[in-house]
Amino acid sequence: MVVSRFAPSPTGHLHLGHAFSALFAEKAARSAGGKFLLRIEDIDPVRCKPEFSDDLIEDLKWLGLKWDGEIRKQSEHMDDYKNALSRLKELGVLYPCFCTRSEVAAEIASAGQAPHGADGPLYPGVCRKLSVEQREEFMEQRSAVWRLDSAKAKALVGNISWKDKEAGEVKVKPELFGDVVLARKDVPTSYHLSVTVDDYLQGVTLVTRGNDLFNSTSVHRLLQALLDYPVPEYHHHKLLLDETGKRFAKRDKAATLRAAREGGMSAKDVRDSLMSLAR
Ligand code: GLU
Repeated sequence: MVVSRFAPSPTGHLHLGHAFSALFAEKAARSAGGKFLLRIEDIDPVRCKPEFSDDLIEDLKWLGLKWDGEIRKQSEHMDDYKNALSRLKELGVLYPCFCTRSEVAAEIASAGQAPHGADGPLYPGVCRKLSVEQREEFMEQRSAVWRLDSAKAKALVGNISWKDKEAGEVKVKPELFGDVVLARKDVPTSYHLSVTVDDYLQGVTLVTRGNDLFNSTSVHRLLQALLDYPVPEYHHHKLLLDETGKRFAKRDKAATLRAAREGGMSAKDVRDSLMSLAR
């Protein structure tokens, strides 16, 4: 059975781009007689606000979205991410990194030609090269993030790929994100880890989301291989643009579902305008 999901982060009010993505995911499940889930990705205690969670649920109900079962809130499931992190540590594919942001920036600047990934320059691997003694010493003095040793991970899982309904077979390229952070200093997880764990625990078989997250799937697929999770199918959709050709943004208040509703639009009006923008 097809199980899809919409997984917004409550860092602001949902805009029309989110509404499109939510309806896209719901349709993907319903047209196949499957299930559609709603998950709130609120691991970031600074950027995510409970009132935005409440508001987004209200906005989606207003839009007419109907999800199956309970809503999963990531902030209530930190133990699940900790367990996955422990398994990765046991596999020897993680290492603690003690660098501050400015130390990473200085190291990249001094390296001159730092390799670039999907999100900019890659972590240069300073803490990967620490000795066991140095690591133990730092552990007592500083807090650490946990990074994936992407070369080790690749060596362990070999050549793998994932399937996108539009792009077809896509090869995993660990070098797109390099030694990405899987657990932060303030929370014992990250977007990449929690999304992979949750899609597995919730039995998601079809991940739909915007093309802006296309490359992230390389990291998720790598984690699935390491953690022995089944591989869902993916459908990354194009990003909805406003009339001027710009991507919708949460800070653009006029483009939120809330503003549309308060401005007197009906849910049907919003759905119709989404259909015309999607063309
Ligand atoms: N929470 C992510 C976001 O709002 C989406 C996660 C996903 O669909 O994989 O951008």
